[in-house]
Amino acid sequence: MKTVSSLLDEDWHQRYKRISKLNIRSSIYDVTNRCNLRCKGCFFFSSGEHEVAREEMDVRKWEAFVDRETERGVNLAILIGGEPTLCMDRIEAFYTRLPTFCATNGLIKVPRDRFPDMIVGISLWGDAEAEKILRGKDTFAVSSKNYEGDLYAYYLYTITPKQIGKTEHIIRRIEDVGLKVHMQLLSNDEGVDGFSWKPEELEDIRSEMDDVLDKYPDTIISSKYYHEIITTGKMMGRTFGWMECPSVTAPLDNREPHPKRLTNFIRWASDLQTMHRCCTSETRDCSSCKDGAAHMSWVMVNKRGHMRSTRDLQNWIEIYEMFAKLYQFIPW
Ligand code: SF4
Ligand code: SF4
Repeated sequence: MKTVSSLLDEDWHQRYKRISKLNIRSSIYDVTNRCNLRCKGCFFFSSGEHEVAREEMDVRKWEAFVDRETERGVNLAILIGGEPTLCMDRIEAFYTRLPTFCATNGLIKVPRDRFPDMIVGISLWGDAEAEKILRGKDTFAVSSKNYEGDLYAYYLYTITPKQIGKTEHIIRRIEDVGLKVHMQLLSNDEGVDGFSWKPEELEDIRSEMDDVLDKYPDTIISSKYYHEIITTGKMMGRTFGWMECPSVTAPLDNREPHPKRLTNFIRWASDLQTMHRCCTSETRDCSSCKDGAAHMSWVMVNKRGHMRSTRDLQNWIEIYEMFAKLYQFIPW
């Protein structure tokens, strides 16, 4: 029988031991139904998730809710929305109780005297031209000033087919402002013309992502296996989709047979009672889903399948490390 020790040398075994202790238990929270942008392709607004629940306005109820989440075993709160920075008091309810990650468009700066080491993921959808088309604004011009040199912030660069051939330029700009970057792919939930992926474009972007990772290993938080998984939607001969997805809200998950999944994962709406189906759009067709975190988690919950060979297990370790770095369970 293949065991972890028989597959890994001492270095890799140490890396394995470091992550296997982490036991990450995440859940996702819509902090607000509002945003100061309206991006074309935003899964939150395009699926009507901003209308399914009335926002809880009493911060004491948020505090009590987070206490209950902590008791439920959550050890990583992922804050999304809407735009969480419109509600700093709600962010604080999480931050003072739990390791917290805040996704933001970066237009409002998280005050570092109040949230000194909170991890901030700043969304970026391409160069200024693409951002103006999709988001109505060149957000980088603002967010890069707000977060230049910030040790606890990184860019979440959503790559679209229009970015092929342009990613290096973006990565360099991010490096120049002293930040890290993680790459993911647009799912184009609103079918914006020219922004849906064709198979040959996915092949091109995979090789481009591999190239920039080779050139900027200190700036990009990624792995080539992750690039393979998100561009092919395949892992060990299996195809990503509804019956494989690990990021489905546990109490709503009635799939049979049960796939391997995140333990006790829930995505909560901002009324603190309603649950959404999964970590992303309520209405997205799973066969077109490119969600980066769901693909990463897909790998992470399938360790046993990766014990086929040394390379497979190393791939699994690299993706786990990447996830742990993105939420600062281990340093960059
Ligand atoms: S900034 Fe984020 S939440 Fe706001 S509209 Fe854009 S994608 Fe949606
Ligand atoms: S849309 Fe994506 S994240 Fe949501 S259930 Fe489907 S595959 Fe999973």
